[in-house]
Amino acid sequence: MDNHCIFCQIIRGERPADFLYEDDSLVVFKDIRPHAPVHLLIVPKKHIRSVNDLTEEDSPILSEMIMRAKEIAKEQAISGSGYRLLFNIERGGGQVIFHLHMHLMGGW
Ligand code: AMP
Ligand code: ZN
Repeated sequence: MDNHCIFCQIIRGERPADFLYEDDSLVVFKDIRPHAPVHLLIVPKKHIRSVNDLTEEDSPILSEMIMRAKEIAKEQAISGSGYRLLFNIERGGGQVIFHLHMHLMGGW
């Protein structure tokens, strides 16, 4: 956990967010500035800076993130029309929040 990290604060309940899902290892909430009709963020509870910082021991959470995205896309009824799963990595890759997260965007 990082005291100054916005996503750690959301995970700890210290900052509001519109949650769709939570379990022991990850949370899903709505992106505050949506770029698609459905724009959600799938965020591991563990503070990992970016994809660059993943280690072998983080492998299970990556699989959980994708499986959860698939389930939530189904719940949101966007599976058939299609959606994007996206990681922005470091500043040149468009990352602005340095706590690992995957964008789920769809509903077009
Ligand atoms: P990235 O560019 O991949 O780092 O994406 C960070 C995303 O987090 C952006 O799409 C922001 O709109 C979103 N965001 C920033 N602050 C919040 C917040 N407090 N609650 C929900 N989403 C946020
Ligand atoms: Zn964090």
